[in-house]
Amino acid sequence: MPENKVKKYFSLIEAWAWCDICEDMVALRIDKKEIINGLKMGIYTKEYKHSNPYPIPDDPDDVSGQEHTVYVYINDSFDVTGVKTFFGESLSTEEIAAEATQAGGEVRIPIVVKEIPPMAVQLGMLTKEEFMVLKICDGMNSLEQVAEIAQKNIEKIEKMMDKLRKKGLVKVIRRT
Ligand SMILES: [Zn+2]
Repeated sequence: MPENKVKKYFSLIEAWAWCDICEDMVALRIDKKEIINGLKMGIYTKEYKHSNPYPIPDDPDDVSGQEHTVYVYINDSFDVTGVKTFFGESLSTEEIAAEATQAGGEVRIPIVVKEIPPMAVQLGMLTKEEFMVLKICDGMNSLEQVAEIAQKNIEKIEKMMDKLRKKGLVKVIRRT
């Protein structure tokens, strides 16, 4: 699949994210202010509902003409660090597991169990890093994908998860 791409301008960015339902790049224009504001809450994600205007006619397997969502994670350098595509409200645990098990082995999906306000960081209850990682544990990412989106190595994320789990902030679902 082609690489996601970003062009950065003074006040906005243009991002191209790969939609594996359309099998095409989807172009997004996003205000930098919107991203900076979102990042204050830990991470920034852009949710964009669309449908393929040119699905393959007479192909029953091509469902891209139906409305679906591309969900893009953007970091504080305005780069795309993750992309999800799905029909309906979100990606299901089964879909994440199916995608990840192709790589073999057990899939671990961390999910936040308690909503944490940004104030927790100011109060020293969590580090800024932990706060960001918690936000990525939205139930749509395997542990490896969380590491990728957070741009941390997996060992560091595993350690952090142990700590956050002991604090009762996150649970990890396992699927094989
Ligand atoms: Zn699409």
